[in-house]
Amino acid sequence: MNEFELIQRYFTRHAANAVLGVGDDAAIVRPTAHHDLHISTDMLVQGQHFFPDVSPSALGHKTLAVNLSDMAAMGATPCWAVLSLALPKADKNWISEFSDGFFRLAEEHGLSVIGGDTTCGPLTLSVTIFGETPRGQALRRDAAQAGDDIWVSGALGLAALAIKQRLHHDFSIPDDVMAECTQQLERPTPRVTLGRSLLGLAHSAIDISDGLMADLGHILARSNVGADVWLENIPTHPWLVKNRRDFAEIITAGGDDYELCFTAPHSARSKITKLSEELSCPLTRVGRIKTDKSTRLIDRFEQPVALSNKGYSHF
Ligand code: ADP
Ligand code: MG
Repeated sequence: MNEFELIQRYFTRHAANAVLGVGDDAAIVRPTAHHDLHISTDMLVQGQHFFPDVSPSALGHKTLAVNLSDMAAMGATPCWAVLSLALPKADKNWISEFSDGFFRLAEEHGLSVIGGDTTCGPLTLSVTIFGETPRGQALRRDAAQAGDDIWVSGALGLAALAIKQRLHHDFSIPDDVMAECTQQLERPTPRVTLGRSLLGLAHSAIDISDGLMADLGHILARSNVGADVWLENIPTHPWLVKNRRDFAEIITAGGDDYELCFTAPHSARSKITKLSEELSCPLTRVGRIKTDKSTRLIDRFEQPVALSNKGYSHF
């Protein structure tokens, strides 16, 4: 199977929303009038972002999910993607399962793959994704306001716990807990519908990939504000709180959550609670934005919690 057969067979699907998809020197799209175009890229490298034994289908899912999560964080509707692959070899079964995992999620979101690049090399997966928001409506990191509530979606720390178990073989974790955590690590649900529904409700948003405190920190820095975050309120797996002395670090600095952290005014509370029910997506208030630029993680006795790990860093 040469490169062109491989692309034709596994990566060429009908791109309903493109003028011209895979197969030419460049794709052609026609952005929607009165919308802003969002562009984001994310790369997954073996050993750095995934374990070598992960199933190709899960890897296909996650390769796209992390990119969809960036669109979700902007409140953008994902439209198009280009997919670049470095593959050690042209293994038909592997590629077929990878593309199934990838395209299943793409179809769920009405996203078209309109091009890419394929080369031989150490396993590396890169997606550039394009999305849209109505002009001027995007959820940006620089728009949090003092007095805003800080919210998070889903539950945090599960993926980080799965990684810890894999690295340190902590077999005290029960199988059912581990299964939930592995699912979260390998097949995160990008919060695209939530992000889009927050347009006009939230002031700012980010997706949590490096840990809540680190990612919230980006909102705070860009918005020139500070925050109090209440450790007790952060949604996570109950097993984690009961059984791990380092639970605070795992849920606030573990990373790989791909949940949304957003800030919204007090006046939006009832609408956000309603949205949580409509989308069957847990949304929890975990803190408040302050004018004072200090940031504190506080326990139930109002005492600051010191963390040795401040979030994931690649270098
Ligand atoms: P070129 O030589 O012009 O770079 P390529 O041979 O790399 O073209 O790609 C041929 C066509 O296939 C292009 O339209 C390109 O966008 C597309 N393509 C290449 N790799 C992928 C991929 N992994 N997924 C989707 N489309 C791809
Ligand atoms: Mg090329």
